[in-house]
Amino acid sequence: MLYDMANRFMADEIAPHYDTYEKNEVVDRSAWKKAGAAGLLCASMPEQYGGAGGSFAHESAIIEAIGHVGVDGFGIGLHNAIVAPYILHYGSEEQKERWLPRLASGELIGAIAMTEPGAGSDLQGVKTRAERDGNQYRISGSKTFITNGQLANLIIVVTKTDPAKGAKGTSLIVVETDEVEGFERGRNLDKIGLKANDTSELFFNEVRVPTANLLGSEEGQGFIQLMQQLPQERLMIGTTAIAMAERALALTIDYVKERKAFGQKVIDFQNTQFKLAELKTEITIGRVFYNDCVRRHIAGGLDPITASMAKYWLSDLQGKVVDECLQLHGGYGYMNEYPIARMWRDARVQRIYGGTNEIMKLLIGRSL
Ligand SMILES: Cc1cc2nc3c(=O)[nH]c(=O)nc-3n(C[C@H](O)[C@H](O)[C@H](O)COP(=O)(O)OP(=O)(O)OC[C@H]3O[C@@H](n4cnc5c(N)ncnc54)[C@H](O)[C@@H]3O)c2cc1C
Repeated sequence: MLYDMANRFMADEIAPHYDTYEKNEVVDRSAWKKAGAAGLLCASMPEQYGGAGGSFAHESAIIEAIGHVGVDGFGIGLHNAIVAPYILHYGSEEQKERWLPRLASGELIGAIAMTEPGAGSDLQGVKTRAERDGNQYRISGSKTFITNGQLANLIIVVTKTDPAKGAKGTSLIVVETDEVEGFERGRNLDKIGLKANDTSELFFNEVRVPTANLLGSEEGQGFIQLMQQLPQERLMIGTTAIAMAERALALTIDYVKERKAFGQKVIDFQNTQFKLAELKTEITIGRVFYNDCVRRHIAGGLDPITASMAKYWLSDLQGKVVDECLQLHGGYGYMNEYPIARMWRDARVQRIYGGTNEIMKLLIGRSL
């Protein structure tokens, strides 16, 4: 039921404006508010904090709807299934009451700022510094590639509270951007795909926040917190991957049934049938694996290695599917007016963010 509702919402409220969002390189804030009013923000947060009291299955249903409708630049998956869970899992009662209801309504839009110009895969190299000064932190540093970066007004910032301690000196600190000075948004970055998302640079210039904005009971917990939450982020990239692959296949089957060449429909060529048969088989295998990961994750048993497999394998599959599907569209596949073109551009980043697929293989390899 939630999937159906989310699908209708994305089709009726987001898809008609999506070309504008792509052109503006940002989704309207009003769309976030509408999603909040429809109960699509923070679906897995407890009801006492304004959420819908669901689980990752509910988040998965919403992200699948986004993928199936093809509005994947709408960054509510990150807001719901990455940002809010940090606050739920590591926030104090006061922090949860302060932030979660406003994230659920869309008053606050969430982002997580890990990556820096000099530190992506190797997060131990983060340079952003949070120095304690009485009952405040003074944060200085720059972040880049941050999803929802132009809109976000609640940002979880990965900082070093004690640079000498390396990973053990890393802390997550929440910055409510409306309430601070010294915070600046940089460029809304010019990307090859995911145009509707405002992936941005962020600058922190002696930004002061209360020490009460630290996530966790003490400093130095940031790296462990990241490691605990990254499996869900990786699984979520798998959600988008499988949904987009399914959409690409469905659109392509429709297309080749209509398009004619050499006096017959393109679907009647054996090559088309073989290609689509292969893709359908691989997508079916991917779907079974994905569903199993979700089941295990909800039961509390999805280990980080399997989550890495899901991220890498499903995003690779998505890349292969959209490429083959674009090919079956011929020249029209290269035209932006056909959705497969956008899906092909959008798919590429899935193998890069959330930890590159090489890093996923490194993690899997280490476990052997
Ligand atoms: C559209 C988009 C949205 C993003 N959103 C966010 C966000 O919301 N928040 C955030 O914090 N970050 C975000 N990122 C950043 C993203 O997570 C990083 O780009 C990614 O982790 C890779 O880091 P890097 O770009 O520094 O690449 P590098 O770390 O410089 O990697 C370059 C290459 O080296 C390879 N490599 C690196 N280390 C190894 C190794 N040990 N072994 C083998 N190969 C290796 C990589 O796989 C890659 O191929 C986003 C990025 C994009 C493009």
